[in-house]
Amino acid sequence: MNVSVPLGEDYPEIREGVRAICKKFPSEYWRKLEDNDDYAEEFVKELSDAGYLAAQIPEEYGGSGLPLRAGCAILEEINANGGHGGACHAQMYMMGMLLRHGNEAQKQKYLPGIAEGKIRFQAFGVTEPTTGSDTTRLKTRAERRGDKYIVNGQKIWTSRAHKSDLMTLLVRTTPVDQVKKRTEGLSVLLVEMKDAVGKGLTMQRIDTMINHQTNELFFDNLEVPVENLIGEEGQGFRYILTGMNSERIVAASQSSGDCRFFINKAVAYSKEREVFGRPIGQNQGIQFPLARCYAEWKAADLMIRAAAALFEAGKPCGEEANMAKLLASEAAWHAAEACMQTHGGFAAAREFDVERKWREARISTIAPISTNLILAYIGQNVLGMPRSY
Ligand SMILES: Cc1cc2nc3c(=O)[nH]c(=O)nc-3n(C[C@H](O)[C@H](O)[C@H](O)COP(=O)(O)OP(=O)(O)OC[C@H]3O[C@@H](n4cnc5c(N)ncnc54)[C@H](O)[C@@H]3O)c2cc1C
Repeated sequence: MNVSVPLGEDYPEIREGVRAICKKFPSEYWRKLEDNDDYAEEFVKELSDAGYLAAQIPEEYGGSGLPLRAGCAILEEINANGGHGGACHAQMYMMGMLLRHGNEAQKQKYLPGIAEGKIRFQAFGVTEPTTGSDTTRLKTRAERRGDKYIVNGQKIWTSRAHKSDLMTLLVRTTPVDQVKKRTEGLSVLLVEMKDAVGKGLTMQRIDTMINHQTNELFFDNLEVPVENLIGEEGQGFRYILTGMNSERIVAASQSSGDCRFFINKAVAYSKEREVFGRPIGQNQGIQFPLARCYAEWKAADLMIRAAAALFEAGKPCGEEANMAKLLASEAAWHAAEACMQTHGGFAAAREFDVERKWREARISTIAPISTNLILAYIGQNVLGMPRSY
């Protein structure tokens, strides 16, 4: 049995199309990218040329006008077929932020180019080295001078910044001592990388345990035109939160794809590998962890669907988006562990792809938000328990 999508395959044509592209980019492709520390340029171009990265852009701007769930299906398929949606996932959730909070001029200026694949919108600069998960304490400052913002500060883990034409950047525009709450006075700027790199923005790659093409960014009097402010000045944290909910749903979908990858691979191997005169899958020590992973994955998939449906309906979905990310990333990690154990020593051989996906699944419990911070959200915001920070 092939572990495919529960509740039937939604967006079956899209899934089929993405699978066909994934077939052209088999495991060797992803392994070689790691070897060379390369970005999945050709893969992303192919997805983009086929219109998949424009799935959520409204038709009037050249896209297909599909809901977030369509983006989820695309990313889930990429991960289920051995790739990593991290190469292109940011476009899925940042598009939403631009659509919901950007002005008409910004949409006209950028969305058609993004839909055509001419503008890559892949970087999201939020995390900073000295403040981490405590986002509202971030220190990158943008001061308005005439028709420009002057940006100074530092970001870390800004993935794909060197492969993006456009980046969303969260900055403090009003000093923290002049606002009532730390969530106020933050703003979102669109940074055109061609006007930034070498002109106030420098980048340094971070060598990481997965091929995630991530960077440290340094801002030294970078000038950003005031017209690149998204929405209202000082309201950026609110906009980022809606972006974060979709980011969590999208990240959960990738983890759901990882679950399918690991479970399919482990089940197939457990049936064919014979030791002690029988298939290893006959042993309950091998079978039960995989059966449990299957149940965990299905539960996570239901939560992802619930979160995406609420998001699309414009209803509050922080609880479901966070729970989807928690359940899916943990299900994927458990499936990664079970798959590794099932493969025994062969799991260590890179050609089996278990160890690469295993490393990726581990990171998904930390980024884009760590398990503890989700639990704190549920404890404090859902259960009404005392705040720990
Ligand atoms: C591969 C990768 C790609 C990334 N890409 C991006 C990107 O594109 N853009 C971007 O902005 N960021 C990105 N990130 C950053 C990511 O969002 C953060 O790493 C993540 O949010 C955790 O923040 P931190 O690393 O600063 O951990 P910290 O905030 O330092 O936390 C460290 C540990 O302490 C725990 N902890 C902290 N405070 C509490 C508390 N109050 N209660 C309980 N536990 C607590 C955390 O859960 C965590 O386990 C990326 C990270 C990685 C690894």
